This record gives sequence, C-alpha cells and structure tokens, in this order.
Amino acid sequence: MPMPICRWLFAATLLALAAGTGPALAQSTADAQALAAKASSMNDKELKKLPAKKVFGGQKGPTTSLKARAIGSYAKGCMAGGKALEVDGPAWQVMRLSRNRNWGHPELVALVERFAVEAKTKDGWNGLLVGDLAQPRGGPMLSGHASHQIGLDADIWLTPMPDRTLTRKEREEIKAKLVVKDRKHIDPDVWTEAHARLLKRAASYPEVARIFVHPPIKAEMCRWAKGKGEWLAKIRPYFGHNWHFHIRINCPADSPNCTNQPEARPKDGTGCGDELAHWLGDKPWPKPPKPEATPPKPAKPAPPLTLSALPAECRAIVTAE
Ligand SMILES: [Zn+2]
Repeated sequence: MPMPICRWLFAATLLALAAGTGPALAQSTADAQALAAKASSMNDKELKKLPAKKVFGGQKGPTTSLKARAIGSYAKGCMAGGKALEVDGPAWQVMRLSRNRNWGHPELVALVERFAVEAKTKDGWNGLLVGDLAQPRGGPMLSGHASHQIGLDADIWLTPMPDRTLTRKEREEIKAKLVVKDRKHIDPDVWTEAHARLLKRAASYPEVARIFVHPPIKAEMCRWAKGKGEWLAKIRPYFGHNWHFHIRINCPADSPNCTNQPEARPKDGTGCGDELAHWLGDKPWPKPPKPEATPPKPAKPAPPLTLSALPAECRAIVTAE
C-alpha cells in the first residue's frame, strides 16, 4: 500500500543528491553553456583540447539532425538523437528537473515508460520517481556519475511516487529515504515486498543488462527469491545505491559503435554466494585514512579529460545541429 503523502514527506531523510543544485552549479552550468555554444564553430584540432565535462555539460538540447545512436561505452561516450522522458507520465515523475538529465536513447526512454506502468499496475508500486538518465547529448557530466554517458543508464528512486503531482520546487528539494541501515543491513522499517517485486521486474526485461543496488539490497533480494532465478544475476551489488537503483540496458541494434560490458555471469548463476559475501565484507570498501605524523602533500589534480579521450564521433555530436 502506498504511504500517505504527509508521512511520505516527513519520512524523507538524507540524500546525497542535494549536491548538484545551487548557485555554484548554476554558474558552472552557465560557463559550460557558453563553451558549448563556442564549440559548434571550432575545427577538430581545437575541439580535441576542450574539457569534455564542460562541453557536454553545457549542451541544452539533443542533436536534431542525427538518428538515435549510443556511441562508445557507458563511462566514456556520448549520444546522438537523444529523446526526453516526459517529466510527468501516467506512472512516473522526473525529479531534479534543473539538472536537465532526463534524456536517453529512445529504447531506454521506452523501457522506463513501460516499467513505470507495469510496476504500478502489477507490483503494487505507486509509480516511479525518476532520477538521472543522461544529458541531452550524453557525455561526461559536470557533477555526479562516471557512467550515464551514452543514454542507456537510468536512476530510479527506491521511494515510491506520491499520489499527486510534485511541484518543480519539491522535485529539487525532496530527499529520498535510505532503505538500508548501513552497508550490511537493510532497514526493515523502510523496505517492503513491493521494493523486491519492483527490482525483480526491472531485472527481468531482456534489454536490461545490469541493475546496481547497495549490497544489503542484493542480500535481501537473494533471501526473498530463495536464491533462485536467472534474473538475480543482473542485480549487482555496488557502492552508493542505497536510496536509488540504477538500470543499465544493452547496446541497441541501431548503435554499431556502442560497446556492451561482458554479460553479468556470477559463478553460482545468481551472485548470491561468494560474490555477495565479498560485498558484505570489508574488502571492497575504502579504508579510513591512517593518522600520519606529517600530513601528505596534496596530490596534483589530474588534468581534465578532453574531448580527444572520447570516441571521435563525439566531437561531431557536440557540433551537430
Ligand atoms: Zn546511476
């Protein structure tokens, strides 16, 4: 049963996604937009030197002259012919509209729409709150994700949609609720069976390659499914997915220069054994820094990634109509 809205709002607690809004980001977005506008008249040699995050982060709209294509790999690439997921649908609402990241390859957009409707009608999940897909032309971002670059990744909140249309302001400010107590334990006061049905549905679509969740969520899915089901293999434990999950689809047939990851094939068929045990242990997690007698010298920041590091086609994407 969906929570009543007032409880839902009050229950909303911490969330990292608050980062990425505010005056500092507005300024860097404005700078990026100015650079993106200039890029359209540059030659290839000049383009290669531009910072990739800025040029792609400054794109206001999709290419309109090119057919849809995902180019490169999930964490190094871009997108032509991106389509916007409508901000309000029959069973979803897009959050954080100021980020302008509700763009995807048409296959991803269609999948999110279908998933939202099916989750609402079949799983007792009151519609999706949708986080980031990609920028209008994909590419690296000014803030946040390493992936989400080729229009085939989508973040979905683990908080169900309320029964009313949220205002623009609410979509910026509402915080998601954590479904875990810590990196080893689910929060049984927040987690429901509808969460489990929702994730199973997402993993069951053939076009979905992977779903990323915080490790205790994978543990809960294994427990709930009694360790059975091929779809479990696609549910991958990963850092940071404690208030949302991440859906990644396979390269679409129309995208010959899109690179799939190897298929998720845990040894035991589900990932509920050794792989999960590894993620519930301490090994994958960063260690707290040791106290040092003399503080280490600050490391030189790495130079920003330039457009030359992305597939060559991505330079045509930032200059295309
Ligand atoms: Zn994500």
